[in-house]
Amino acid sequence: MKKWECTICGYIHEGDEPPESCPLCGAGPEYFKEVVEDAKRSVPLPSSAKNGAAETDSAALQQESSDAAPSGLTALILKFHLHPITVHTPNGVLPLALIFLFIAILFGIAGFEKAAFYNLIFVLLTMPVVLLTGYTEWQNRYKGLRSKIFITKIIASIVVTIILTIMVIWRFADPQIAESANRWVYLLLGIVMVGAVGLAGHLGGTLVHESRN
Ligand SMILES: [Zn+2]
Repeated sequence: MKKWECTICGYIHEGDEPPESCPLCGAGPEYFKEVVEDAKRSVPLPSSAKNGAAETDSAALQQESSDAAPSGLTALILKFHLHPITVHTPNGVLPLALIFLFIAILFGIAGFEKAAFYNLIFVLLTMPVVLLTGYTEWQNRYKGLRSKIFITKIIASIVVTIILTIMVIWRFADPQIAESANRWVYLLLGIVMVGAVGLAGHLGGTLVHESRN
């Protein structure tokens, strides 16, 4: 049985042919290279050279060979895994902010509302870094592949950023939001936002961890 490695995420497929698409990242067969075990390293063989469709592979192979080593800020972001590190801010703090907001609205405790507000501001300030490092990882490590998992992740992160911005501006405009008639709408925004954070985080975790099988 042959083994094929996804050059995008590192997923290993066993079979005579590469799969239609990578079950992890959605990359097509042209992104798979055969793993040559006895050489103890993977040799990039054109995946479909044997089935006579070598032309379709040339793009992927050219892309691979023309991949220059990233430099400057990009190299720094990739080397120190700045995206997985910085995403801990929204992933960790936003659910906490939502819990604070929930307590504040349910029990009318102003202190929790203030804590939630400060947390939202803090995360909003870190979002440019989270988005920049995420974009850099996608463009370099995952070659800007536009499969479902990456598109979903990008949409989820845009949803998070927009809702977060709305929530912060709304709170500045109406400091009494947690006591106003609109408080449940405000809380609902927070729930949708945390849902999107969870989705983006889950997909990111899938890419990072499940490819290292
Ligand atoms: Zn893959």
